[in-house]
Amino acid sequence: HAKKQGKNRYFWFEPSMENELRFRNELELGIRRGIVDGEFVPYYEQQVDIATGELVGFEMLARWDSPDLGVVSPEVFIPITEEIGMIAELSEKLMDRAFRDAQQWDESITLSVNISPVQLRDPWFAQKLLKQLVANNFPPHRLEIEITESCLHENVGMVRSTITSLRNQGVKISLDDFGTGYSSLEQLRSLPFDRLKIDRSFVRELRGSEGCSKIVDAIISLGRGLDLPITAEGIESEEILDTLKQMGNLKGQGFLYGRPENAEEVHARLKSMGLLSTTSDTAALVAE
Ligand code: C2E
Ligand code: MG
Ligand code: MG
Ligand code: MG
Repeated sequence: HAKKQGKNRYFWFEPSMENELRFRNELELGIRRGIVDGEFVPYYEQQVDIATGELVGFEMLARWDSPDLGVVSPEVFIPITEEIGMIAELSEKLMDRAFRDAQQWDESITLSVNISPVQLRDPWFAQKLLKQLVANNFPPHRLEIEITESCLHENVGMVRSTITSLRNQGVKISLDDFGTGYSSLEQLRSLPFDRLKIDRSFVRELRGSEGCSKIVDAIISLGRGLDLPITAEGIESEEILDTLKQMGNLKGQGFLYGRPENAEEVHARLKSMGLLSTTSDTAALVAE
């Protein structure tokens, strides 16, 4: 019997573990190569003023279409990139491209980027980012960084000084995926954020679940009390948009407004809306 079990185990566990390991190694190798070869590209998701419908910004989302593995989700490649110590390099490369892209957009349009907790652990993060902004001649007040609650229970003192240095130069700080992590109300009060983003898991269930609509209501009241503007993410339907409109003065994003698009698609969209920059040389060149 034991032998049979052992045999079963052999067939049941080992091949799948081996496959998993092989896949993981392929991913790692692919990521290392892909970063060097510039396979990762920024896509952009619209951020909209819910009340007026006005386009106010874009969130940059990393995309990877690997020649060997096909399209891989950021939910898969970001954690591995963090583990192999390459997230800062990937982020810097993506931001270089995003700053160049956004320079062609109207000055009123902001750019949001997601920053990994691993990057925030670097005591030089703020200095490096500010240097990168200067190198790209990108105005800090047009940049918003999104950090998640998992950053907050690490080294709060250091996170605070990083946030403060960035804010002093005009960069805005959003707390992303709010409601899914562990942030305490104390941290919310004591850390200088500029915005809360309600996680899409609550927004999606806004009309289906009474619990979720109460949570969204509570987050909106909290934001009002703490003077923190709010973005609702993951708006997929008119019904949810209508509900949110009645709940307060919010920004929103989600597939109802549009799927994330690449730089060329965004450029064409903004051109048709008359929202390309009039001052940047690159805009003039591309418009020819
Ligand atoms: P996130 O920052 O919360 O980004 C929002 C995610 O929700 C994106 O997924 C976006 O495509 C998706 N989404 C937006 N609207 C809707 C909607 O209406 N319905 C549904 N079902 N989904 C919607 P994506 O691009 O797969 O990114 C997943 C996560 O990966 C992001 O969550 C972010 O945490 C992380 N990520 C993406 N790009 C980067 C990056 O450059 N750096 C870092 N550190 N993390 C990134
Ligand atoms: Mg985000
Ligand atoms: Mg989010
Ligand atoms: Mg989210």
